[in-house]
Amino acid sequence: MELQGKNAFITGSTRGIGLEIAKAFAKQGMNIVLNGRGEVSEEIIAEITAHGVNCVAVSGDISDFESAGRMINEAEEKLGKLAVLVNNAGITNDKLMLRMSSEDFEQVIKVNLTGTFNMTQHVLKKFMKQREGAIINLSSVSGLMGNVGQANYAASKAGVIGFTKTVAREAAPRGITCNAIAPGFIKTDMTDVLSDKVKEQMLQTIPLQAFGSVEAVADTAVFLAKNSYITGQVINVDGGLVM
Ligand code: NAD
Repeated sequence: MELQGKNAFITGSTRGIGLEIAKAFAKQGMNIVLNGRGEVSEEIIAEITAHGVNCVAVSGDISDFESAGRMINEAEEKLGKLAVLVNNAGITNDKLMLRMSSEDFEQVIKVNLTGTFNMTQHVLKKFMKQREGAIINLSSVSGLMGNVGQANYAASKAGVIGFTKTVAREAAPRGITCNAIAPGFIKTDMTDVLSDKVKEQMLQTIPLQAFGSVEAVADTAVFLAKNSYITGQVINVDGGLVM
C-alpha cells in the first residue's frame, strides 16, 4: 500500500512502541490519529506534525465496545477514512498463577484481547466497504512461549495471534491484510518496572544479546502496512528469542 497521505489510527500511542509507530508512519507521510485513555499532550501532537502531516488526538478506552466505535467515527470525522489500524494499547498485571485473582486475569484480557476485538470490528466494517485497509496487532513472545507471572498477559497475546489469523482469512477476499508483531523485550515504560536481576536474566536468554528498541518494532509496522501480499503472519522482533 502507498502510505503517503493515508490515515493511520494507533491505539495507546501516547508513549513507548505506539508513539514510535506513529512517528515512523508520519515519516512515511501518513496522517496520524493518536490515542490514549486520557488527553494527549500538545507536545506529542507537535512532534508528529513536525513531519508535515496532520495529527489528531482521540481519547478513550479500547476495552469498552461503545467507546471503541465512537473513537473510530471521531477519527474519520476529523481526518477522513482510515487505511491502517494498529492495535497497540496493552497492559500487564504480573502475578504467579496461584496468586492471580480472576479479576487480575480478566482485566488484562479485557484490554489486550477484547480491546483488539472492539477496535478491529468497528474499523473492519469500514475497511470491507472501501476494499482497502491494513490491521496490525501487537502480540508478544509471551503469547508464543508463555512467561512466568504472565498467565493473563500470555493468554491475551496468544489470543491476539488466533484472532489475527482469523481476521486475515475473513478479510482477505476484500484485499485487507491483518498481521501481528510479537516483540520480545523492548525498552519502554512497560519493561522499565522490572528489577535489574530480572533484566539480567532475560538478557542472557536473547541470542542477539541486547534488548530491542522501539524503532525496531516501528520499522516492522511500516513494513507490514506497506506490504499488501503478507497477511495472517506473526513477525517476531525479539533478538532471536523464538527461532
Ligand atoms: P506502554 O505501557 O509503554 O504503553 C501502552 C500504551 O497503551 C499507553 O499509551 C497507555 O496509555 C495505552 N493504554 C493502556 N490501556 C489502554 C486502554 N484501555 N485504552 C486505550 N489506551 C490504553 O507499553 P509498550 O511497552 O509501548 O507496549 C505496547 C504494546 O506492545 C503492548 O500491547 C504490549 O503488550 C506490546 N509488547 C511490548 C513489549 C515490551 O517489551 N515493551 C514486548 C512485547 C509486546
